[in-house]
Parts: sequence; C-alpha cells; structure tokens
Amino acid sequence: MGHPALEIDLEVIRRNAAAVKALCGQAGVAVAGVVKGAEAMLPVAEAFLKGGIECLADSRMDHLEKLRRGGVRAPLMLLRVPMLSETEDLVRLADYSLQSERAVLEAVEKACRRQGRRHGVVLMADLGDLREGWFEADELLEAALYVERNLERVRLAGIGANLGCYGSVAPTAENLGRLVRIAESIEARIGRRLEIVSGGSTSSLKLLAEGTLPRGINHLRIGEAILTARDLGTYFDCPIKGLAQEGFTLKAEVVEVKKKPSHPVGTLMVDAFGEKPVFEDRGIRMRAIAAVGRKDFGQADKLIPLRAGVQILGASSDHLILDVEDCPEDLTVGDVLSFGMFYGPMLFLCASDSVEKRFKG
Ligand SMILES: *Cc1c(COP(=O)(O)O)cnc(C)c1O
Repeated sequence: MGHPALEIDLEVIRRNAAAVKALCGQAGVAVAGVVKGAEAMLPVAEAFLKGGIECLADSRMDHLEKLRRGGVRAPLMLLRVPMLSETEDLVRLADYSLQSERAVLEAVEKACRRQGRRHGVVLMADLGDLREGWFEADELLEAALYVERNLERVRLAGIGANLGCYGSVAPTAENLGRLVRIAESIEARIGRRLEIVSGGSTSSLKLLAEGTLPRGINHLRIGEAILTARDLGTYFDCPIKGLAQEGFTLKAEVVEVKKKPSHPVGTLMVDAFGEKPVFEDRGIRMRAIAAVGRKDFGQADKLIPLRAGVQILGASSDHLILDVEDCPEDLTVGDVLSFGMFYGPMLFLCASDSVEKRFKG
C-alpha cells in the first residue's frame, strides 16, 4: 500500500508526556493521559506510560477494551459519561469513570456487585460549557452524598468539570474556583478529602502554566498537549516549552500536477459536502492533487504543509487540492508531500483504515 501514511513519532509523544507530567507535578496536579485522539493505539499508549503517565483515559469503551487486550495494566478512566447499557463493560475494564446521572451510578453499583469489583466515580459539574454534568451545585452535592452514603462498591473518587468542548467556554480561575468550592463543601460533609478534583483538559494547562490554576484542582485530563501540542500556542497564546509538534506527520502522494485557473469555471452550486466554498481568482496557477481526502483527515484547513510553497486550497472525500505555484522546486507526479496537523486531522487519520500507520522512535 504505502500511501497515504501517518508517521507517528513515539519518542516525541513520550517526551511530551514527560513534560506535561513534570509541569503538572510541580503544581501537585496528577495527569490522566487521554489517548482517544490516537484511536488508543497501543504503541501510543505505551509512549504515554513510558513518559511517566500513570493513568490512561479514553471516551470509548472499545478503546479501553483494546488497551486491556494489549496488556495495559495501568488504571483506566472512561471519559464519556457511560451509557446505561455499558455499565457491565465499564466495571470490567475501567477503574474510574466520569458520571452525571444517578440511574447510571445505581447500575454501576449493581454491576460491581455482580462482578465482585469496585469502581471509582468522578461526578461532573457543568460550569457553563453545557456538555455533561450537574448544572446546580446543590444537586451535585446531593449526588455526591448519595454515592458516599448509599453505594457500597461505587467509591466517590471526586468531582470534575469539562470546559471548552461544546460551549467553547474558557477555563478560568473563577469557574474552576467554583469547582474547588463545591469540592470543599462535599469534603466538609463527608469528612474526608476527595482523591480527585479534575479541572479539565489541555485548555486548563494555560492556567497552570501561568500560575492561576486555583489551588485545590489536583487532576487534569490531557490529550492534545501530548499528542499534537499545537492548541496552547495557537489558540490560547500560551506556548509551553518542551512540547514538540512533530508527533504526527501525514505522507501523501501527488497524483496530478497541472496549471489551471484558480476560480472554478461554470455555474457554481454546492460541493460534495453540501457547502458553498468561496474561491479567490488568482489567475492561472500550478496546482497539485494529493491522494488523500476528507474521509481520511476530516478538516483540510487543519493540515500544515511542510514543503515550502505548498498551500492547501481544499479537499473532497478522496482528493487534497494544493496550490504549488510558489514551490521553489517543481513538483512531479509520484512525489510524496508531508503535512503536520492539528488535533482534528490526527483524530480522523488515526481512525482511517485507508491510512498506513508507521511508528518510529
Ligand atoms: C477528550 C477529553 C479530554 C482531553 O482533552 P484534550 O483537549 O485532548 O486535552 C478531557 N476530558 C474529557 C471529558 C474528554 O472527553
């Protein structure tokens, strides 16, 4: 097969994992390493562990199963609040889960009894991002007391929050401070400290790096900063030293190179995805097509051409369209182009069966 291929540098991932662990460790914050973006591929999970990450996390049960089958013994955390129908698998595979519904907590307790196991739960607070979690602090407190007092095999490990994922709400000292205060009120009522107060994901690393993460947050769930490590520098204006962006590289083969107009010719309707793209008329330009498409990488504009002068114009399901007019060296059919990437394309590429995975490091 050969191309398209995704090169995965395990040494970069290992070093990023170690850097994130060290940064968090200084602030007394434990890290769950989130491997879902890389399809929970075993070599990637092992690179996290080699970097010193002690707990792995994923949103999908089939990924947790893959990790266990692959021999991973580290504690595992399920990130997506579980389906009622997967609580047996949850108890079998995971040590921790994020939770937001009492009916599920009760089902987890039953599954624990049937299997003779214990399970730790992190109850989620919705701090405004409007994804999972109890929106009212009182209701979260009540749920926590319910777990503590009524469930035998389900252990209240802590509370947590997720920000920036749906509602794009930024983690701040204010909203995470609210999480800490909820944790303190629970601790006062149950007479012990919570093991986990989980203050979010990669976006919360900005607060940690700037020294404004509220004291009391003692856990983060980190994927992007270890895998692609581009969000903090690009979106949050907070590049972190020691994080490398070269973990994932797409290799795609050029199948056509031709001079063409830069504006489509004819009456424009919608593209293959029902969208109306806008085209800039830059006259006749040298263009290339690489044999990889949106089916493989999802978002073309989150790929980063590594060859000088290559510009991404767009993509259809199976074709990546490039402007190569400004390439210092002429491209020819058969050339292989490299692309770095943000998290989105990595997620798709790792999961695409048509993309060969090549590990190095
Ligand atoms: C995916 C996910 C994370 C990891 O987010 P990153 O931005 O990759 O660090 C953390 N928490 C939950 C609940 C998630 O689903």
